[in-house]
Parts: sequence; structure tokens; C-alpha cells
Amino acid sequence: MRTIAAMLIAMLLATPAEAQRREPVIDMHIHAYGADNMDGASYVCAPFPAFLPMDPGKGGDGLPGYMKRMFEDPACPNRIAPAKDDADLRARTIAELRRNNVYAIAGGTVANVDRWIADDPVRLMPAISASGPDRLPPPDVLRKRHAEGKLKALMELTFQYRGIAPDDPRMEPYWSLAEALDIPVGIHMGPGPPGTTYFATPGYRAALSDPLLIEPVLVRHPKLRVFIVHAGFPMKDRTMALMAAHPQVYAEFGVLTALYRDSDIWPYLKAFVDAGFEDRILYGSDQMIWPQMIGISIDRIRKTTALTAAQKRKFLYDNAARFLRIDPAGTGVLGQSRWGAPSGK
Ligand SMILES: [Zn+2]
Repeated sequence: MRTIAAMLIAMLLATPAEAQRREPVIDMHIHAYGADNMDGASYVCAPFPAFLPMDPGKGGDGLPGYMKRMFEDPACPNRIAPAKDDADLRARTIAELRRNNVYAIAGGTVANVDRWIADDPVRLMPAISASGPDRLPPPDVLRKRHAEGKLKALMELTFQYRGIAPDDPRMEPYWSLAEALDIPVGIHMGPGPPGTTYFATPGYRAALSDPLLIEPVLVRHPKLRVFIVHAGFPMKDRTMALMAAHPQVYAEFGVLTALYRDSDIWPYLKAFVDAGFEDRILYGSDQMIWPQMIGISIDRIRKTTALTAAQKRKFLYDNAARFLRIDPAGTGVLGQSRWGAPSGK
């Protein structure tokens, strides 16, 4: 009995040290949500085993039946329940960040972001998100927040859900602002919940996943620092065409590492590595209202044999450190001259 008790004490004592030993991670993409984002929230599968067919004409089991099978009561071995309320969401998300040694860009409304940052100004970096130019705070408000250290990025810009393309003229003042402030922007280009056009966001168009739609914006704003959220999945050829022509662009794999199958994520990610983009792939959990998405996605990356240990380090920390020009864990990665400014020698 004494041995078991001693083992338990040793395990308890080992937990903080274990968190410290974990190599640091930068999560480019978590959401600072509040209760307004949890109305009617349901489960997600990590991963979803399949994207089921919907029969739109089948009375009673058309859309409602599809919604129930996909989200309300999905039959999957590993399903995650949403947080209970605001406080539960913040507390459990921050606990996940600390346990996994993660520093995260947290995007949301001004009020939600300020509330989240108050709880952990070390692990969380403030961003502002919006579903369209009409829902972003005015440029003057953003400029003031930036001056106060409360705006590190515009993330996530989810215009795709409202059918708004990146070169919509209403965005022009914001692209100019992000360029002038020299802050990164993360643009949603990739999948949404299956069927979302019919049950939640009528403007969603798969065609707006095409990263080449950003190209005119890049040309007009050559100093803009863009990362493509969800890496344009599944349009890897078009994403890589954009990255080849515009070496300032990075791809962030977002929801794929938490909720998509091994057969989706690893071949997709590996294609970018094999094409020579291993220094421009970024990790993001896309934690919305399911805090466990952070630990689940990081564990899957640590376990996969699709990437080498060095590639995992780049994906989880080094590339984001270079892109954001920060090194919150003090690894010294920015001092390496290979990718940064000339060393002067
Ligand atoms: Zn997101």
C-alpha cells in the first residue's frame, strides 16, 4: 500500500514539471467566445469518422435529421461536449494552454477578447475577429487598441460564411490599416460545418475557399502579412500556387488537426512539406467552445509519423515565432540567421 501511495504522490508532483518539459507551442487560432456563441451548441467528433449524406427531400428526416446525426447526437468514438458557460470555457481553455505549454492568438469581439486576456495575459495574445467588414470595429478603434498593445492580429476573418470575398472593396481600409500597423491577418479559407449554407450561414460558399482570391489583395498591399486559415482545404494545389508566387504567405491548418481524420490531415499537411513549404506551415487548434480541441490536436501531431521531430517543431512553434516575430518561450529561434535578417557577418 505504501508503494502505491508513494507512486500517486510522485505522479501528482510530476504534473507541473511535465507541463514545463513539453516543448512550447504557438496556437495561431483560438476563439475568445462568450455565451452568445454557445446557443444551441452541440458535440463535435474528434475526428468526424465521415461526412454523412443528406437527403434534402426526405420529410422529417431531411435537414433536422441530418443535423441530429452530425452534431446533436453523433455516433463517433471520441465526441466532445461544449463548455457549460463563459467561465467554464475560459477556465478550461486556459488550463489546456498551460498544460500543453501553448501561447495562443485569441480572436473575438473587443469585449470578449478583453475579458479573456484579463484571465491570462501571458498565454493569450489579443486579436479581433469578424465575419465581414461591417462587423469590424472602425479603423480608429483598432488603431487605438494597437497603440495600447491590445491588437496583435486580425483573426479570424470569417467572411466566407457570409459570401464575402477577400477583395471586397469594403475591406480596403482594413487591409491598408493592417499593412500600416504591420499586424498579421488570418482569413478563413476552407471547410465549414457540412450543410451550414442550409441551416446556419446561408452565405457560405465553398468556392470562397480558393486562396487565389487573396492574390489581388496581396498585390495591392505587398507588406500585408497573411495566413490562410484551414490552409484552403482541400484546395492544396491552389494554396501552394499562391504560396509559391507570394513567399510572405503562410498556411495555418486550423480545424483539420483536431476534427478531421488521419486520412485527411496528414497527406494534406505532408503535401506542403514535400513541396518545400515546411517553413511556412502553422499550427492552430481552432478552439471554439470545445476546450479539449487544443490537447487533442497537439497530441495527434506529437504522435503522427507523417512528420519528423524537426518538422513538428517548425509546425508547432518555430514558423509561428518567425511569422509573428515573437519568441514567448525564449527558445532563441529568432536569433537563427537562416530565415531572418542577414546576420551582418
Ligand atoms: Zn476558427
